[in-house]
Amino acid sequence: MLHHIAIVGSGPSGLFCADALLRQRPDLKIDVFDRLPTPYGLVRFGVAPDHQGTKAVTRQFDRLFAGGALRFLGHVQVGRDLPLANLRQHYDAVVLALGAHADRPLGLPGEDLPGRYGSMAFVGWYNGHPDFRDLDPLLDRPGAAVIGMGNVAIDIVRVLGKTRAEMATSDLTAHAADKIAAANFTDLYILGRRGPIEASFTSAELAELGKMERVRPVVKKSDLPEALPAGLDAIEARVKEKNLSILHEFADRTDEKPIRLHFLFNATPDAIVGSERVEGLKIKNGPTLEVGTVISAIGYRTAADGDLPQSDARGVIANQEGRIEPGLYVVGWAKRGPSGTIPTNRAEAKTVADLLLADYANDAAPAKQGSAALDAWLSSRGVHVMDWACWKRIEAAEIAAALPGSPRAKLAAWEDLRKHRQ
Ligand code: NAP
Repeated sequence: MLHHIAIVGSGPSGLFCADALLRQRPDLKIDVFDRLPTPYGLVRFGVAPDHQGTKAVTRQFDRLFAGGALRFLGHVQVGRDLPLANLRQHYDAVVLALGAHADRPLGLPGEDLPGRYGSMAFVGWYNGHPDFRDLDPLLDRPGAAVIGMGNVAIDIVRVLGKTRAEMATSDLTAHAADKIAAANFTDLYILGRRGPIEASFTSAELAELGKMERVRPVVKKSDLPEALPAGLDAIEARVKEKNLSILHEFADRTDEKPIRLHFLFNATPDAIVGSERVEGLKIKNGPTLEVGTVISAIGYRTAADGDLPQSDARGVIANQEGRIEPGLYVVGWAKRGPSGTIPTNRAEAKTVADLLLADYANDAAPAKQGSAALDAWLSSRGVHVMDWACWKRIEAAEIAAALPGSPRAKLAAWEDLRKHRQ
């Protein structure tokens, strides 16, 4: 009988799944585990600090936790502190909502030079992820390049390009704000290995790049087709048409601003140049860009630890419609790869929740013990769970420390977060 469910990962896909399960079965008890002492995963560490509206989704997650059927067990790494095999002994069903935490490798010479960062590390650094708090990236040259033409690449150039005043209402971490303010960029580059039609950014995000105080987008008119290619579906055509019109508008600009943001289309990176550190980025059949920083924003793969199922060649955990095997499910980026927006996960998590509930519709096995048995096991192993009350103390400290206009000053160091253990 289905009664106790464990969800591993407290990002949007895991919490949307909890929501969908509880709407249909309010009697269920769901425990949400996270390696970090802070909930919300991608909402806290992925969504850009100046996109606070997108983060408002956490209010509905808070209501779920306040409802009593959902428990937060932070600071517990399933697979390592708590083997999956053990979790499955205590819960009737387990849902993996692990996200995708590993940067796809570029596979280029010079990839490991200081000054080259993957977007997981770089975005994690400015968003206060404790694993990347001390990244201290090299931002000391006038040029910096971001490889990739998705929304993550757009987020990164925008955060690098905005002034401190433009970020005042964001929750950009102080360590990143100081470092970015001290940088003296004159030329930022965003590189796509294909053309403007193939770029995967969306129109609203692209348009934002044209509204920055000290950054002027630079687009070559000759890179832009006058019309869309045939064969696009209607929704895609609408987005691409809007993108093209924004890019044409960028190409027409003649104003001068301190930072030029160069859009380089059909620019495949060939090598990262430098001996001790990044000195440049060589483009295949093209120039070597004079940059001291190269950030690759080319997508992610799921990396699972310990006895969690490993991801396959596509970087996702093999599954059928979300079922890995009876009793074990997967949602979100770990299920389908790093695509879509936060609302994409709401619809998808519901389909996995429906599948899970259908699997147990005629299950007559006695329900397992759930957290009652597990709590004792965790404390016997010295695992210090940081629960919802700990998170609320962290949150209160962050709000209390916020600068005027900013929603919070994130605690980003492990030791500062762990101070809020009871
Ligand atoms: P993405 O949209 O898949 O973009 C990845 C980019 O990297 C593409 O331009 C891709 O080019 C390029 N790329 C991949 N491998 C490459 C390589 N080896 N060399 C050079 N370029 C390479 O992924 P993302 O930007 O990481 O975003 C992930 C998801 O989060 C997306 O669905 C995105 O929309 C979403 N997101 C949304 C927002 C928002 O709504 N504001 C913000 C951030 C992220 P090709 O097309 O040629 O492969």
